[in-house]
Amino acid sequence: MIPIFIPHKGCPNDCIFCNQKKITARQDAPTEEDVVNTIETWLSTLEPAKTETIEVAFFGGSFTGIPIEAQSAYLAVAKKYKDAGRIHKIHMSTRPDYIDEEILDNLKAYDADTIELGVQSFDDEVLRLSGRGHDSSIVYKSGQLIKDYGFELGIQLMIGLPGDSLASCIYSAEETVKIGPAIARLYPTVIIADTALYEQYRSGQYLPLPQEEAVLRTKEMYKILTRAGINIIRVGLKSTDLINSEGGTFGQTYHPAFRQLVESELAKEALKAQLQSANFPKGKSVKVDFYANGKSFSNMIGHRSCNKTYFQEKYPLLQIRYRVNDALCDQQFAISIIKGDSQ
Ligand code: SF4
Repeated sequence: MIPIFIPHKGCPNDCIFCNQKKITARQDAPTEEDVVNTIETWLSTLEPAKTETIEVAFFGGSFTGIPIEAQSAYLAVAKKYKDAGRIHKIHMSTRPDYIDEEILDNLKAYDADTIELGVQSFDDEVLRLSGRGHDSSIVYKSGQLIKDYGFELGIQLMIGLPGDSLASCIYSAEETVKIGPAIARLYPTVIIADTALYEQYRSGQYLPLPQEEAVLRTKEMYKILTRAGINIIRVGLKSTDLINSEGGTFGQTYHPAFRQLVESELAKEALKAQLQSANFPKGKSVKVDFYANGKSFSNMIGHRSCNKTYFQEKYPLLQIRYRVNDALCDQQFAISIIKGDSQ
């Protein structure tokens, strides 16, 4: 994915977690030439054989909230690359209330592919407390319209906004499933300097989620979305996403390997459930093999071997070997008890 940051200059909204207004006050939007340069730079570093799908992605503020002429100018650049076969898809993120027929007709004319909606929550109270400026009803309408036009739909959700709870996170994931996007992103809330959320944090009005709780809520949402066949393309912010947060981030929620924290927890949960239903001889040492495919192996071990430590402490009589079995799917874990080896 080739990300192109398009700041939403003059964004009239006041989302409490966003520092865009401060950024855009001193940062110019890229010119078409800048976009060409960015794409060329990325293309020169991507190896075509290794990169199955190359997408140009307009991120930042709300792409469809900028004047339509500006959208067209950026899209025209991306379309040229797509028509030439040098990129495969055109992708963008926007707000659910910046979608209508005129906007979608224009995106169609430029052969755009994927529209991600920054939904954040389906709980109207969370949306209100977060200053989003719309309620959840618009998400159903926009999501449907995007799908009716034949675009690939993405939904982004945040975890830990003011007023949110495990129940509202689960509700948001379930409502997302009802809309049926192809892709989703899960972002634990990060407190960035120069935001209203930061002020609430400083005054004690907002308490960031402890990391463990953020992992727990995200894990439950992850399960609901993946069970429905939704491809979760990101979990947690990348450090490069925070490149514009010049004043830093606060609270303990941010973790550079947040996805691994969540997927490790899922691995632990799956392996624990299998151990609990296995019939071990009481009070004896038993050899057990844990399996994951090569891609999910590190999640089975856990971030900084946390799962290994957990199973060692919780099941001292088990002699566990961690093995690769590429017949398993991603995030599928299995155990096998070595028969005749109990002592
Ligand atoms: S998150 Fe988007 S819509 Fe909200 S204030 Fe920031 S730029 Fe505007």
